[in-house]
Amino acid sequence: MEEKKYFSDLKREVIETGKCTLCGGCIATCKLLDIGYLSVSEEEPVIGEGLQCPADCGYCYSQCPRVEKPELQEGLEEIYEVVSKDEEILKACQDGGVVTSLLVYALSDAVAEGCITVVDKGDWKPEVQVAMDKQSLINSAGSKYTPAATLMGIPEAIVNYGLWSSALVGTPCQMEAYEQMLAVGRGTHNAHNFSTNVQLRIGLFCQGCYSYEKLMKDYLERQHGINLTEVTKLDIRDDVLHVYAGDKELLSVEISELEDYKRDGCKICEDFIGLFSDLSVGNVGVPAGKSAVIIHTNFGKEVLEYAIARGFIEAKPIDQSGAVLIHRLQNEKKEAGIAEQERRKK
Ligand code: SF4
Ligand code: SF4
Ligand code: SF4
Repeated sequence: MEEKKYFSDLKREVIETGKCTLCGGCIATCKLLDIGYLSVSEEEPVIGEGLQCPADCGYCYSQCPRVEKPELQEGLEEIYEVVSKDEEILKACQDGGVVTSLLVYALSDAVAEGCITVVDKGDWKPEVQVAMDKQSLINSAGSKYTPAATLMGIPEAIVNYGLWSSALVGTPCQMEAYEQMLAVGRGTHNAHNFSTNVQLRIGLFCQGCYSYEKLMKDYLERQHGINLTEVTKLDIRDDVLHVYAGDKELLSVEISELEDYKRDGCKICEDFIGLFSDLSVGNVGVPAGKSAVIIHTNFGKEVLEYAIARGFIEAKPIDQSGAVLIHRLQNEKKEAGIAEQERRKK
């Protein structure tokens, strides 16, 4: 008989070994979700003090993509250069407002009743939200680069908002975690059935995520005297982090100098482009003010085509040099992630 594993095993094997991505999947699928048995503390999933997992459980362990990776299905790979056609979104958003426009389209065409995104409430600490209108989506636009347990938004959308369908926006590891949620849900081992809720998965290109305490509070606030409430935009472009207050650039720093602030779980990550999403979006290989969009599934292609047809965005195939750059970054990240995994085994 297969040995049962519990949260204590997840903690020992994944969290304490620096593999956790803080995707939130274990928290969302915990059997005792209703009583808030698992939560996030200091950027880690934690169990309520003095609580004991019930016998014959272990849903959290099965869910974790850092215990077992889901299988990647053969998909499409078409890459476009995309920009929003909505002036309000263009004015408020980064990189052509593509993610926001796709989500506004998804709401308007009943692809999703709500969108699971992260929002900054003023201090650049990302919080998971379920957005159901254009203004909430505009408020949540912009890159954050520090972690949020985004998959916790799935039960929130179902339980708190009573939604039947949602769009999930997240990093490649969160897209992978959702795929694992589907994989275990299709079998017998999932406490909750979320498999019909997320209709659209939008991945965000990701080179790494940083500890909020280390990057925002220690590096930007304490070391550089930057008032976080004045920051209006964070942007990693061509391996440089730029920090803005309006049009004024407060700081620019090579991301190689921020390696110590990167989360350990990101150092073993192999996915830059969000392979498990319907489509993924990033500011690589395209001119400033636009985004690259990679289509991974037929449904992702449909969504892009409808969003173009209904006038939300415009798109053209990406230049060859842009596609080459994206592939190079994907390969480099995969190689670096595997090399770090090997190094840790020694
Ligand atoms: S899913 Fe089960 S084993 Fe995991 S933390 Fe929740 S109660 Fe404990
Ligand atoms: S990677 Fe995700 S599922 Fe695994 S322990 Fe971390 S938060 Fe939980
Ligand atoms: S680098 Fe990987 S593990 Fe880290 S946030 Fe990005 S996708 Fe997730």
